[in-house]
Amino acid sequence: MAWRSTGGSNAELVSNMALNRVDRARYVVDKVDAYIDSPQSIGYGATISAPHMHAHATEILLPLLRPGARVLDIGSGSGYLCAVFHHLVTSDEKKGKVVGVEHISQLVDWSKENVRKDGLGHALDDGEIVLIAADGRQGWPEGGPYDAIHVGAAAPTLPQALVDQLASPGRMFIPVGTYAQEVLQVDKHEDGRVTTKELFGVMYVPLTDQEKQRHMGF
Ligand code: SAH
Repeated sequence: MAWRSTGGSNAELVSNMALNRVDRARYVVDKVDAYIDSPQSIGYGATISAPHMHAHATEILLPLLRPGARVLDIGSGSGYLCAVFHHLVTSDEKKGKVVGVEHISQLVDWSKENVRKDGLGHALDDGEIVLIAADGRQGWPEGGPYDAIHVGAAAPTLPQALVDQLASPGRMFIPVGTYAQEVLQVDKHEDGRVTTKELFGVMYVPLTDQEKQRHMGF
């Protein structure tokens, strides 16, 4: 069934429209299951998140995802969310920037191919989407400060480096916890004050060392 761009709120409607512009089949390994609402293995102990999680994350960050905005996606994996964010922050008049940081270099190469196949090669060539192989726990200060930061893997605790790289105002979506994980919405306000709000429980791949992840054996 085709996705419909209807939603229960304006934010939901707009985030569904942005998700509609990205074809998940370009970002999965098993194309048959591309449109099923569940996570899917993409190798190296990583998964592409379920469509409803991508939708939640996009909706929560949406107020900050204006044309011209800078976005950091930690654990960018398949590159799917980088493409969605790109559609939201780059318009004809205003170019935004999306930086994806992923520590498995094979996934970075694959995500670039995915983004190209999805018709966004020009965004890679122009530096509107930048996909980098690095340890995301350090963020990517060179590209900041960021209006929005999405973290696609669960951190044991909130990494201060990422809080530091948030703009004022800026918002981060980050799953935190080891066994029980909770998504935190971290807001840096205009006066620099930082507040955190617990949103919901989740089960994400851990934000970890590359070697640990490569030896997890799934
Ligand atoms: N959001 C992506 C991937 C989610 S899986 C998608 O939907 O496709 C989480 C990703 O985080 C994996 O690709 C994993 O390799 C990556 N990851 C885990 N720890 C990391 C770290 N320290 N630095 C960068 N990436 C990391």
